Amino acid sequence: MARSKCPTCEYHEFEAVHVTTKTGQKFCLIQCVACGTVVGALDDVKITNVIKNAEKKLSKFLENLNRKVVTVCNRKNS
Ligand SMILES: [Zn+2]
Repeated sequence: MARSKCPTCEYHEFEAVHVTTKTGQKFCLIQCVACGTVVGALDDVKITNVIKNAEKKLSKFLENLNRKVVTVCNRKNS
């Protein structure tokens, strides 16, 4: 995979900056750590969805893990 770089200074590190517009819309800007050039923007709704999806995956993972633990415990008891 190609490495992301800033179009202005060619630096490789970026940071997410949360901003709120005058109308109350929330955005997340992706900007170069070195010079602050904005290379991308996400709206808050998308970020929330990403977090929700991650939560779903995590809870499924924990569910599976619980089942495995229960199986192991049952084996020990029998
Ligand atoms: Zn830059």
